[in-house]
Amino acid sequence: MESGKDVLYGREITRKELQGEEETLEKAFQKSAFLIEQNVFTCRRCGTSDPRQQVQSPCSCGETCFYCVACLNMGKVKKCSMLYSLAEPNEFPLFSKDCLQWKGVLSLEQARASHDIVTTVLEKKLV
Ligand SMILES: [Zn+2]
Ligand SMILES: [Zn+2]
Repeated sequence: MESGKDVLYGREITRKELQGEEETLEKAFQKSAFLIEQNVFTCRRCGTSDPRQQVQSPCSCGETCFYCVACLNMGKVKKCSMLYSLAEPNEFPLFSKDCLQWKGVLSLEQARASHDIVTTVLEKKLV
């Protein structure tokens, strides 16, 4: 189960989705869920700016609020929502052994095909 920072890496997560990880929230980069440019609202989670995808609904924020229908399947992103994220650190585990080594033996036909492919690539010619 993912928790804390892992949930935020490379993602745009609402406060509700993060569920009370206050310490993580403080470190996270946050921005409002919608970008407003010349009266056009663009959802920062999915990039949709089509007003037909923005459905008005009553909200505790008191303003005329709406949410994005285009990315509703990822959770409701409202006009008053904040999105939290952290840059993906790309901390991939290193393999202890060389995992791309094959210790098999090619058949005669496979060896010939392999040799032909290598020769073709080296000579940059098309068969
Ligand atoms: Zn959206
Ligand atoms: Zn609202």
